[in-house]
Amino acid sequence: MSAQSSPSGKPIERYDVVVVGAGFAGMYMLHKLRGQGFSARVYEQGDGVGGTWYWNRYPGARCDVESMQYSYSFSDELQREWDWSERYAPQPEILKYANHVADRFDLRRDIQFDTSVVSAAFDERASTWSVTLSGGATVIAKFVVLATGCLSNARMPEIKGLDGFKGKVYHTGHWPHETVDFTGQRVGVIGTGSSGIQLVPVIAEQASHLTVFQRTANFAIPARNAALTEQERQSVRSRYPEIRHFARVESRNGIYTEMPDRGALDDGDSDRRAKYEARWNHGGLTFMSVYNNLALDQTANDTAADFVREKIAEIVENPETAKQLQPNNHPIGSKRICVDTEYFAAFNRPNVTLVDIKSSPIEEITVNAVRTGGRDHEVDALVLATGFDAMTGSVAKIELRGRNGQTLNQKWAEGPRTYLGLMSAGFPNLFVITGPGSPSVLSNMIVSIEQHVDWIADCVAYVRDRGLHAIEASTDAEDKWVAHVNEVAATTLYPQANSWYMGANVPGKPRIFMPYIGGVGPYRQICNDVATKGYEGFVMTGKEQPRKMAAS
Ligand SMILES: Cc1cc2nc3c(=O)[nH]c(=O)nc-3n(C[C@H](O)[C@H](O)[C@H](O)COP(=O)(O)OP(=O)(O)OC[C@H]3O[C@@H](n4cnc5c(N)ncnc54)[C@H](O)[C@@H]3O)c2cc1C
Repeated sequence: MSAQSSPSGKPIERYDVVVVGAGFAGMYMLHKLRGQGFSARVYEQGDGVGGTWYWNRYPGARCDVESMQYSYSFSDELQREWDWSERYAPQPEILKYANHVADRFDLRRDIQFDTSVVSAAFDERASTWSVTLSGGATVIAKFVVLATGCLSNARMPEIKGLDGFKGKVYHTGHWPHETVDFTGQRVGVIGTGSSGIQLVPVIAEQASHLTVFQRTANFAIPARNAALTEQERQSVRSRYPEIRHFARVESRNGIYTEMPDRGALDDGDSDRRAKYEARWNHGGLTFMSVYNNLALDQTANDTAADFVREKIAEIVENPETAKQLQPNNHPIGSKRICVDTEYFAAFNRPNVTLVDIKSSPIEEITVNAVRTGGRDHEVDALVLATGFDAMTGSVAKIELRGRNGQTLNQKWAEGPRTYLGLMSAGFPNLFVITGPGSPSVLSNMIVSIEQHVDWIADCVAYVRDRGLHAIEASTDAEDKWVAHVNEVAATTLYPQANSWYMGANVPGKPRIFMPYIGGVGPYRQICNDVATKGYEGFVMTGKEQPRKMAAS
């Protein structure tokens, strides 16, 4: 860091890189940049590290990628010394892990908490970003990295009367730090995506009555969560080189699993059923890896979807409730598949009621009830499991001004446009981690985060080492990449669902399939090839000679 005085006499802090956000992406970005000799400053609006796991403290919150894979791989010591207690770690343990990483790598001294980045403007003459923080201070950085998270902008539903509700209202993505005890209360949960599916069985055990308001039934596969034994941990550790390599290079979603070599229709009914049954009993996200064409072929997909619908009917005792819980308006997997623990069984409890708000939408929230179809469902507390303005929401909240004064929001008005999901033309030296146009939310995100961080750190070092001023995506490369992202998505069943991948959960948001579905392994190869070819598709400006960073 270096400082010089502003006209008012106040020192202006200058860094090589400003990183926005201290979740898993921002933390590793900081560590990596330090290792490359850069000065970096991280700004985090919360008062601690961990991002997703700092904010989403709702009961039942846990990862849906197995912990021994949903963890950093950049440090072999770290992955050997940390003991995950369960197959899918609960939120407090993942947050503890994030804090451990911050301590172990001494990250906190370069993170400023309780500070939002409000805006950033590119100075074309100096090739630096002027970054404005909550509180009004401005810092200068040569590069800005947005590690703002894909699922970090909690979406409040617009429901008439919500403000006038007299009980407590909680959003899963903004849960209080203190324990919330629903014992003896009548609780309403609005939303049955991943968060809702995780919390319903837990709240059902506390509440005197739980009313679940469901607009869309979702597919969920049992987690089969269990404590990990030391032997199981050691077994994974001993295979880490193979597991991590597979997740990075060979997999499509960053998860170590067998690669299916058959399509669902290549097997007869009983073989197929046996395979689904085995995966259902094994539990977890890899259910979708039974066959290689479940995301591509509607008839194949139907076989998996029918299997899960049958399971729901077996578990849920009331046939009418079972029917309502059976997803029927999207292919299985076209929305992020949920991983549950006793979700469907929770509806067999006498204190749990399902209300279908697709056929009878919520009319309003009164002081003590949710009104649907002219009927009041009285509740003492409301839990909004209504998700996020995904992928672009947190980026859009920052006023980012690139070349010619254009803002990123103006540029992305019809939907996000990036080259490789990493940069957007007209916004030099500005990177996004797991941004739209990259595999991102379709993957084990820590795998994707590490890949982006490594790539960005190398790219920034390339610019520094050649004495260049700026790197920027070319419009041509960006156009081709956007076309490719759309083309690949169109070959799959994904765009058929009204999902948050498509921005469909946010009224007025352009309907564009945002993540890149070409697969984690192939995507990494593309990014590596681009770098090897001297950052093909990017435009560099400035002199080709080694020199000190302009911002240092
Ligand atoms: C409940 C839940 C469960 C999940 N489970 C899994 C899972 O099992 N597997 C998986 O792969 N992924 C999972 N995810 C996705 C998860 O978001 C990623 O795995 C990962 O944690 C993202 O890390 P990140 O650092 O990119 O973003 P985040 O963790 O979202 O961190 C971003 C940080 O940036 C901060 N920030 C944003 N804007 C600003 C600003 N303007 N100024 C300052 N700070 C800002 C935020 O406060 C936040 O702390 C889950 C998400 C949720 C919500």
